[in-house]
This record gives sequence, structure tokens and C-alpha cells, in this order.
Amino acid sequence: MFLVEESCLSGRASASKARGETALPKFKRYWRPNFSYSLRFRSNSQSSLLAVTKAPDIVPGAAHARIGDSTLAARLRRELEGEVLFDAFSRGRYSTDASIYQIEPIGVIVPRHRQDVLCALQIAAEEGIPVLPRGGGTSQIGQTVGTALVMDTSRYLNQIGDFDAAARSVWVEPGLVLDQLNRWLKPHGLFYPVDVSTGNRATLGGMAGNNSCGARSLRYGNMVHNLRAIDALLADGSAAHFGALNQADPEGMPAGLLQRLIDLGQREAQEIELRFPKLLRRVGGYNIDELVDPASGNLGRLLVGSEGTLAFFTRLQLELQPIPPHKLLGVCHFPTFHDAMDSTRHIVKLGPAAVELVDRTMIELSREIPMFRATVDGFVRGEPDALLLVEFAGEDYAEQQARLAQLVELMADLGFADGVVEVHDAAFQSAVWEVRKAGLNIMMSMKGDGKPVSFVEDCAVPLEDLAEYTARLTSVFEKHGTTGTWYAHASVGCLHVRPILNMKQDGAHKMRAIVEETLEMVQQYKGSHSGEHGDGLARSEFHERMFGARMVRAFEEVKDAFDPAGLFNPGKIVRAPRMDDRSLFRFKPGYAQLPLQTALDWSEWGGFGNAVEMCNNNGACRKANGGVMCPSYRVTGEEQHLTRGRANSLRLALSGQLGRDALVSDAMRDTMDLCVGCKGCRRECPTGIDMAKMKVEFLHQYHQRHGYSLRQRLIAYLPRYAPLAAKFGAFLNLRKRGGLLAKLGEKLFGLSARRNLPQWRADRFDDGEAEDSAAADDRAEVVLLVDTFNRYFEPENARAARAVLTAAGYRVRSVRAGDGARPLCCGRSFLAAGMVDEARSEARRMLTALRVHIERGTPIIGLEPSCLLTLRDEFQSLLPGDESRALAAQALLFEEFIACERQAGRLQLPLKPLAAKRALLHGHCHQKAFATMDALKQTLALIPDLQVEVIDSGCCGMAGAFGYEAGHYDLSIKMAELDLLPAVRAAAADTLLVANGTSCRHQIEDAGARHARHVACLLRDALA
Ligand SMILES: Cc1cc2nc3c(=O)[nH]c(=O)nc-3n(C[C@H](O)[C@H](O)[C@H](O)COP(=O)(O)OP(=O)(O)OC[C@H]3O[C@@H](n4cnc5c(N)ncnc54)[C@H](O)[C@@H]3O)c2cc1C
Ligand code: SF4
Repeated sequence: MFLVEESCLSGRASASKARGETALPKFKRYWRPNFSYSLRFRSNSQSSLLAVTKAPDIVPGAAHARIGDSTLAARLRRELEGEVLFDAFSRGRYSTDASIYQIEPIGVIVPRHRQDVLCALQIAAEEGIPVLPRGGGTSQIGQTVGTALVMDTSRYLNQIGDFDAAARSVWVEPGLVLDQLNRWLKPHGLFYPVDVSTGNRATLGGMAGNNSCGARSLRYGNMVHNLRAIDALLADGSAAHFGALNQADPEGMPAGLLQRLIDLGQREAQEIELRFPKLLRRVGGYNIDELVDPASGNLGRLLVGSEGTLAFFTRLQLELQPIPPHKLLGVCHFPTFHDAMDSTRHIVKLGPAAVELVDRTMIELSREIPMFRATVDGFVRGEPDALLLVEFAGEDYAEQQARLAQLVELMADLGFADGVVEVHDAAFQSAVWEVRKAGLNIMMSMKGDGKPVSFVEDCAVPLEDLAEYTARLTSVFEKHGTTGTWYAHASVGCLHVRPILNMKQDGAHKMRAIVEETLEMVQQYKGSHSGEHGDGLARSEFHERMFGARMVRAFEEVKDAFDPAGLFNPGKIVRAPRMDDRSLFRFKPGYAQLPLQTALDWSEWGGFGNAVEMCNNNGACRKANGGVMCPSYRVTGEEQHLTRGRANSLRLALSGQLGRDALVSDAMRDTMDLCVGCKGCRRECPTGIDMAKMKVEFLHQYHQRHGYSLRQRLIAYLPRYAPLAAKFGAFLNLRKRGGLLAKLGEKLFGLSARRNLPQWRADRFDDGEAEDSAAADDRAEVVLLVDTFNRYFEPENARAARAVLTAAGYRVRSVRAGDGARPLCCGRSFLAAGMVDEARSEARRMLTALRVHIERGTPIIGLEPSCLLTLRDEFQSLLPGDESRALAAQALLFEEFIACERQAGRLQLPLKPLAAKRALLHGHCHQKAFATMDALKQTLALIPDLQVEVIDSGCCGMAGAFGYEAGHYDLSIKMAELDLLPAVRAAAADTLLVANGTSCRHQIEDAGARHARHVACLLRDALA
């Protein structure tokens, strides 16, 4: 047996001693110098562990008894440097992956380095508890959940190690995300070609665990075909290198293991030949075919697809590919689904890199998603029943063009003349692929209890049988009263399809019936029952039926050789439970939401609980770059501070699974605390989770129980006391960052002393200024709605807007509250504090004041995105009804109005060039969430000779009051440092900075020492 000589800290050393292990003189060094430390271990060929041939299965009751065990947690905390999370909320957050299953882990550790993993494995071995490695947790069929000690590699174990461009090889740690690796490789002209749809959050360890595959597997193969070696820790903590079989060092792994594996390969060669489907897409079972030929076999590849059941990967050596410089896309249109399926086998003969299916339902659903509408309109012609996206890629552009021409010809020969839309533009090709990649997510945006369920979604069959198989499976669905949407990897006979089932009701029953009939068909076609997503809980049960009993005994032998005590992820691949055991489901028998009186209207989803249940754990919110979502995760890297983590916590609390009053507990407050309400998820979460709105509901519920602090009241009520406070503006402005008053303010109100506060202005904006007092004429009317922040702190923006609108020939009107007491307010500051009733009363006031303009259809124009867009968004939850709907349709941001008028050919706004020739634009999160950035760019483009560059930034980190709060200051700055501040610092002194959000401008000024302006001011300066 291998013993770790430098074990984890002092406790580990004494534990080894206590077991009577003796040191042997032979040492080996396996860890590469690029990583932070090296490890030495010794071999002892008298292994008692490997002598065990049949694993004594983990007794489920014993593992259950350790769930949340505080003694175990204390021991782990003593000996590990990483996080040890044993509380109910954390366990809840790690009890699901993107499958229908939910199993509570014993506890969670987030190892800081490899030594932590080693230490945890040794403790687990000693205590006899199962372990479960985890990456992004995006698996679809339950392999990443279990009653085990879950080890999350994604936060810290994500470094890139030795890289050899000439050898096209790189070593990586398991928690590294695919897209991050590819970004790093790009300057070297290389990439890792296993292009899973979840590439922006899937970890390489998880991809190897699942033997993942992507759209271009036709050309590049699966994970197993692109891996050279794995360094891993085994269940007892011993380390081993798994690479080419013919170079395997028996002393580099537990005694006897190599020989046992080789013997197994030899013995089972014939059976493997007989039973393994002859298809690229076979990811079921263990890859024991790697053991058959000692000359070409690879032990690392044996571990690929092992789903955390054999070893913990600590490093992976990947085989890289050159980035093909030229890509062309042909979008083939088919009048029937059958035609598309039947044509695939002909199309693959042209040598494409990918042939991917998008069916009619998917096209229609994508069209409904604002983010995708324009792209879909760009590549879909007419009303096809199905599309095949055919990509040609390679070194030679002319060759790709020739192949695309052949595709057009072939389609005509098949009877589909003019059936190809050619896409040459690289950016548009990427946009098309984004729609295809979002396929599953698009389907999951369905509201209600019926959801597309993953369990037969990746069976693969030979291409000649594809049309017949899909037709037959569709009939099976119909027989069971359901339907399925088809998409994905037509090229390799692996189409994704999920029947729509209600897992809270009769879903399990139908699921069993459908899977039985499907597998019978797959067997007839000599297909593969697990063609992409692995075995997990949904497939493992069927191995015996698909591979035969002898093969399954061989799989068990492999498991026992690696993990004799059965500690690694039990119940997956071998010795699995029934896939329809409802006690393992997310919606277990008896699942119900607790009654709750909600403050907001959630009827669109059928209730607050249903809105929360929309999160299917697909993990899109874990994406590290691009877009807005989710700033708090991007700076913390913690599951807790992630849209998914929050939604899961809410779901568990709302269904009583986290104990009494969990919804209003401090743990829930901590979970929601760092959501900045940016609404990034509203647009970018594929299932449309609107966590900002959920936070409002949560805060309402929480503060009903716990009341409000002085600081919370001070911020929320600002619009109410602003008219009075403005009178003392000169005094209030005496507070300066770091000064005595600031320190006092931090102590009393929790407002960070490190921040400047907005300055009260003596020349505040008065609504009378907006009102055009001229006699009625034939000019079109607009209402200028000035918010609290622009009114009291930056009135020049409102004046600029008024000037521009007037110059453009509009008659500008103002609105006052009927009570005349104080200006109108959208209620945002109340919403941000969860004071829903106060916000509702502001909304009512606003609706009453605007009634006459709503009835006349007058455009209502606002300047501050978070305020104006409240009229469009939250008003409908506060005061659902026709009037709110009408207001939502008329409420426009200043730039939206300008862009709209220009597009309609009504805008008369002569502008002259500015002195500055460049502008750098930062979008407010809500502008992005409501897709208004294009309007802003179009508005800026009206200024002659101005070059505009948009900062690819997420949240500025200020997010209303968030960045002013002492407890959030550091995080706020970290968020700004992600993209915004580096871009601001890099901007030349004569570059104009444009930001329409009050808090964004403040962050830029406060932390970036540059002055940013509202677009209305730029337009006013440019008035001819
Ligand atoms: C919307 C959506 C689209 C998807 N599209 C695709 C697709 O195109 N192609 C595809 O193949 N899959 C796809 N998947 C499935 C999934 O995203 C991929 O399999 C992905 O590679 C899993 O990565 P992960 O980091 O989330 O792994 P996890 O789910 O965390 O883990 C996967 C498995 O690997 C094991 N594992 C993780 N780390 C280690 C380690 N260090 N050592 C040993 N074992 C480890 C785990 O125990 C688990 O069994 C999709 C899933 C979703 C939700
Ligand atoms: S609103 Fe923004 S911060 Fe909050 S969960 Fe959604 S993306 Fe994250």
C-alpha cells in the first residue's frame, strides 16, 4: 500500500503511526514543480487493502448518521486549511446537481490545495465515510449528489500547470473551467476541443469525471480521446500517476493494481468486443476497453468517465489542438423533422466538424427570448420544422468554401433546393452557436410543474437508424401523454430529448415506463444508452441490461480494485439504486411548499415557490466572464453567493427542508446578503430566475420578523426626507471621506467612512423647470420624470435632458403628485430594503399622478435606469393590472426615447462634433437586464465624429446603497475591479466617460478618480 509520508499536518502523522504503518525507504516524487508543493510517499507491497476483492458496501444508515456531524466537522477544521461547511444551508446547497435528484451530503469541504484533499481523504478513510469530488455540479443525471463528504474543487484547485506548446500538452488542476483554459491557450493558437455546452462553468475534472463531449465530437472525439494522463489520489490517500499503459510503473500505484487491471483487460477482451456499442458516443460503465491492448491502452483514460467512483483527480494532462483559422456555417432548413434526421448520414460524408440539430420548438422558444430573437431572425428562413447547423473548419479557407458549396449542392440533390443559409461572418457564427448551446436552457424556461426531464436524453444510435429511432421514441412519448423537444448532436447519432413530466405527481411512474421502452429500442439498434451525460443515478441501474452481467461484474472488479472499501461516490456506475426511487428525488413524496403570504405578485409563475423552483441547477450563473450575472459569485467564488445557491436555499426553506422559520433566519439573510439586485440573472439565467425580485420578497419577510435598523431606514426613506435634508445640504456636505463625521456616520449608521457621499446641491431641480409653459401647440408631448438622485445630487442631467428634448421639438411636461407635498418617487429605495408596502404606496402615487398621461399615451421619460425601469418591472408586481401594464409600455429611458424617435424618422436633432473624439461607455446593470444598451449606443452615435467603446463590464459594485455600506465596501471595490476600474484607469485623459447610472458614476468618481457623465449631458453639449 502507498502511504503518504508527509501527511496532513501533525494530526495526520500521528494517525498513521496509530495504525502501525512503518516507513519504507523507497520514495517517489510525483508532484510537478509548477504547482505549489511536492509530495512524497512510500510503497508497501504488503497491501491488505487491495487484498479485498469484494467491496463491503457502505452501510447507508451509517453514512446517514454522519450528516452534519459536528465532531467530524471539527476534526476537518483542525486539519484542513480550506473551508469546512457542515451547516444545514451549505449541505442543502450541495445536495443537488442539474438532475432531478437531491441527496443531502454529510458535509462539504472546499479544499484550498491538494494537501487538503489528501488530508480529507485520509480522515474519510479512517472514519469510513464516503467522499464525492465535485466541480461545477452541472451533471444532469445525479452523479454529483450523494450521502458523502463533498469536495468542491472549483474555488481553489483551478491552476494551469506545465504547458508544452510544441507537444500540444498542458497539465491542469481539476477545478479549472474549460473556457478559462481556452482563453489562456488562445494566444498560443491552441485550444482544448471538447466543447461542452456548459464550457463557461464546467470544470476539467468534472468533464473528465463524466467523459464529456461537445458539438464537435465528430471531429475531435470525447474527453477520453483528448486526455494523456491523470494524477490522482486514491481512497486511502495514496497518490498515483495514470497514463499510457505501456509506460505504467507498477510501483507508482498501489501494489497489484496494475496487474489486476491488465489481467482483467486480457480476460474480458472478447466480451468487450461483443458488448461495447460500436459508437463514438458510449460513455456508460468504465472504459475497460483501454485495458485490452497494452500497446495503446491508457490508464488515465480508464479513469475518464469514472464519475468520482475510483479516484480523486488532482491533475490532468490534456491533449490540445490547433485553433482552425477558418470556419464556415451552413444552416440547413428542412420542412419535416424526419427529413433532417434522414439527411444527416449524407451530410456527415462531407467531412464537417459539427452537424447539430435545432428543432421547431427550440426555434420558437428562442424567438421568445429577447437575448436570442435577433440572431434567430438572422439565420432562420421561413417556418422550417428542423434545422441542421453544419460547420466546416480548417486551415484552408478555399477548402471550407468548397465544402459549403458541396453542402448546398447536396441539399438540392436531397430535394431541398435553396435550403441552406450560409453564415460567413465569424461573430454571427458565434451568435448562432450560442443559441444552439443554450438549447437545454431554452427548454427549461418553461413555467409550471411540467418540466423536460433528463433520463433518456442522450441515447445514441447509428446514423442510418436515427430517423426511425426518433420517430419511434416520439410515439413512445405520445403514448405516455407527453412530448419532447429534439436538439443537439445529429452528427454522432446522439440527440437530446427530454419528455415533459411532472415530477411532483406521476412523473416517476411515466419515467420508468418510457425508459424501459426506450432502452429496448436502443438495444435493437445496438446503440448506447449513455451517450454523453454519464451514468449517475439515472443510468447505472441499466448497465446489466445493456452490457450484460459479465461486463457489470468486470466493472465491479475495477471499482473494488481501486476503492476496496467503496468510499468513492457509492451507488454510481456499479451497485446503483433504482433510478425511479422517489426518496432520491428533489421532489420527494410529500414535497410541498409551506403556506406563505407574499408581498409581491408571483402569479406569473404560479407563486413564489414555483418561481424559485425554476432553478434547475444548470449553473449558468457560475460563468466566470462576460455579461452581468453574477457579480457576487465572481468576486467570492462561493456557492452561497451565487444565483443557484440562493435559489436552492430559498426552495429548501420554502418547502420546510431547512427547519422551522428558515426563510427568516440569519443563515438565509447571509445567503441573500451579497445579491446586489443587479438583475443580471433576470436576463442571463436561462430559466429566468429573477433573484433581485426574490430578494425584495425575502427582505420583506425577514424584516417583518426582525424589524429595520436605523441605517436601513435612513437609506430607504431618503426620497421622503430629501426635500427637508436638501435645506441643510451645505451642512450635510461637510462630511468628507475619512473625516470625523464620516467615522461617526459609520459608527451610527453603518455607512462606510471610506466613501464619499453624494453632494447635496443648492441648485436642485424643480419640476417647474421641466414644465413647458408655452401655450398648447402641435408639438408632441413627453413627460420628463426626474428621480430623487438626479434631482438633488446631479440636476444638470435633468436640465440637459430637458434642453435636448426641447431642442428636438418636443413639448416637455412635468408631473407632480396630487398631494403636492414632495416630488414623485418610483419606490426603488424602499424595494431595496424590502419595504414593499411603502414602495406600493409610492407606486400608487405615481400611477395616480401619471394617469392622464397614461391615458393619452404620452411617452414618460426617465434618466436613472434603476428608477425608470422600476416602472416597467416591479410596478407590475406591486400593482398588477392594466394601468401598470400601460405605464410599463410608455415608460422609456431618455436614450430609448431618442433612439426610438430616430428609428421612426421623427427625430430632428442637429448635433455638432464635441471637442473629445472618444467615449468609453459603462452600462448600468438594469440597462443590460432590459436590453437597452443598444439604444444608448445608437444615441451616442448621433454625435458626429465620436468613437464609442463599450466597456465589457458587469456590475460597477455600487448597486444602489450596497457599496456605501461599511460591511460591503471591500466587495463593492472588488466588483468594480473586475472590469470597470481597470478600463477607467486605462482610458486616455481626453476620453469621455459615459455612465447613465447614478451609482455607477459615483463608483467611477470615488474609486476611479474620473468624472463620468450622463448621455443627456453629452447630447446637450453637442446641440448645434
Ligand atoms: C445545460 C446543460 C448543458 C450540458 N451540455 C453538455 C454537453 O454539451 N456535453 C456534455 O458532455 N455534458 C453536458 N452537460 C453535462 C455537464 O455540464 C458536463 O458533463 C460537465 O462536463 C460537468 O462538469 P462539472 O464541472 O459541472 O462536473 P460535476 O458535475 O461537478 O462532476 C461531474 C462528475 O465528475 C466527478 N468529478 C468532478 N471532479 C472530480 C475530480 N477532481 N476527481 C474525480 N472525479 C471528479 C464528479 O464526482 C461527478 O461524478 C450539460 C449540462 C447542463 C446542465
Ligand atoms: S440580481 Fe445580480 S447579484 Fe443578485 S443573484 Fe442575480 S445576478 Fe447575482
